[in-house]
Amino acid sequence: MLYEKYLSVIDRQSQDICALADAIWDNAEVMYHEYESAQLLSEKLEQEGFTVVRGVANIPTAFTATFGSGKPHFGILAEYDGLDGMSQEACVAEKHPIPGKNTCHGCGHNLFGAGSLGAALAVKAYIEATGKGAITLFGCPAEEGGGGKVFMARDGVFDGIDAIVSWHPERMYMVRTRPALANVLVNYTFEGIAAHAGAAPHKGRSALDAVELMNVGTNFLREHMELTSRIHYAILDTGGTAPNMVQSHAVVQYLIRAVDSEAVRELHARVDRIAKGAAMMTDTEVNIQVLKAYSNLITIPTLQAVANEAMHDIPLPVPTPEDIAYGSALQATMQLTKAEAAQPMYADKVLDPAPPVAHGGSTDTADVSWVCPTVQMHIGNWVVGTPGHSWQSTSQSKSDYAKRAMLYASKAVAGTILRLMDNPDALAQAKQEHAERIGDGYICPLPEDAKPLL
Ligand SMILES: [Zn+2]
Repeated sequence: MLYEKYLSVIDRQSQDICALADAIWDNAEVMYHEYESAQLLSEKLEQEGFTVVRGVANIPTAFTATFGSGKPHFGILAEYDGLDGMSQEACVAEKHPIPGKNTCHGCGHNLFGAGSLGAALAVKAYIEATGKGAITLFGCPAEEGGGGKVFMARDGVFDGIDAIVSWHPERMYMVRTRPALANVLVNYTFEGIAAHAGAAPHKGRSALDAVELMNVGTNFLREHMELTSRIHYAILDTGGTAPNMVQSHAVVQYLIRAVDSEAVRELHARVDRIAKGAAMMTDTEVNIQVLKAYSNLITIPTLQAVANEAMHDIPLPVPTPEDIAYGSALQATMQLTKAEAAQPMYADKVLDPAPPVAHGGSTDTADVSWVCPTVQMHIGNWVVGTPGHSWQSTSQSKSDYAKRAMLYASKAVAGTILRLMDNPDALAQAKQEHAERIGDGYICPLPEDAKPLL
């Protein structure tokens, strides 16, 4: 294993790194409330000699931790927010919510945060030994629903970083090649006039009618938009529960996705016109508020190749008989496809990067990828077939196997950065590929007055 001398820091620190992952799992703080979790990570980094800046981008739970100085300057992303509605006991193979606890780690961000910290410690050891360059760990809150990184990118937090290496818990070991769609999240609030629905319906103007007409209009729009675009909506407020009154207030929230920010802007404008049409049809007023927006993800082939090499060089964790017993009990609760059922329960090899296929999801890492060359890795912390954001992923995110896979992630992230430290040509090539892909540069998709939903 190349760079064993530095990567072995992760083994020596493994108890601390795993304890951090467990503590963050226990804290399970929802977006922008990750006070304890951010403090645990930043405190440990401070103890290790990193310079910590807390509250970056005016977000109390966002931070940066830097070691070294000068160039090249690499970045590692860390997430640590939990998910609402994911209450589940750890390491059990049946659905078992924890009484009184709503937020849990259904996306494995406890592993993501602690594993990224492990990677930063190994890169620090290399910088100390060679005197080369700098490393910054970016503490990124509110990935789930808040888009913390977009606000950080808008504030210039990632400016000047030569490349960013990241990862996420998954069911496989592979460099991420799949793109992610740009999106925008919008609230349409309709205001009408309340009235008795039986005695004086002619005096009422229904906001709920407007929401229904808007949704009908959008559902007809689907026939005439790009196949790669997506529109989803949820009615947040129907104006009441009594049918004998005309609802004077109603809110529908739309998530609009497309291949890039420009395509999102075009589709968003069409949806806005439908909303205004629905307001005209019902004599109501509509207020349109953008809550958050993400760019599309930029992928960099040279970084993918270096990360792939690093991943192949590091031994994968080997499941124990206890891991197998727990994993097979879990898999018995899942709807495995034929292909999944044919695979080993725990992924047992690093897959070569697949040709990118269309994917309907979005990520706030996309905005980081517009500011600097970025690469992500999928790490097989969970058994094959595990649905994301599920009780099964929550249960596993504190398991022994998941933590061993997290330590693998620490080494894979650090191994990628150390290879780039020693290969300026590859870094220059990555920056060239980035420049070609971003054209005129990053335009933050957020409206100027958008603020994090603190
Ligand atoms: Zn996640």
